[in-house]
Amino acid sequence: MGNQKEMARQIAEERQALRMRLRAMTHRAMKGGSGNQQSSDRHPRDVFEQTQQDLLTKQEMRAYELLAARAKMLDRALDSLRRGTYGLCQNCGAEIPWRRLQAVPGAVLCFSCKEGSERVRGNGSVPEAGRPRHQ
Ligand SMILES: [Zn+2]
Repeated sequence: MGNQKEMARQIAEERQALRMRLRAMTHRAMKGGSGNQQSSDRHPRDVFEQTQQDLLTKQEMRAYELLAARAKMLDRALDSLRRGTYGLCQNCGAEIPWRRLQAVPGAVLCFSCKEGSERVRGNGSVPEAGRPRHQ
C-alpha cells in the first residue's frame, strides 16, 4: 500500500488552501462592491440576498461552488482517513486502486461507481439465479 500519512497531509494541505481561497473570494467581494449604491429602504433580508448576487459574478459563483464542492470532498476523505476506511469505495466498498487515489486525491468512489453514477445502467440482462434444472 502507499503512504496514507503522506496522502492525509496532502489532502489536509489542499483543503486548507481551498478554505483560504474561498474566504479570500468572499472577502474580496465584500470589499469590492463600492460602486454599488444599495438603497437603504429595503428589507434587511432582501438587501442581503441582493448583496450576495451583486458581489459575485456568475463566473465567480461557479468557481466558488466548484471550490466549495472540492473542499467538501476533501473533508469526507479526511474523515474516512481518520476512521481507517480511506481507499474504500463509499458506494460499493471495493478497494480504490492507489493509482487512482494519487491521481485524484480525496477520491471516495471507485472508478466503476464514478462511471456508473454518471451513466444510467440498463443493458437489459436479467440475472438467472433460479434456472430450473431437469433431472
Ligand atoms: Zn465502487
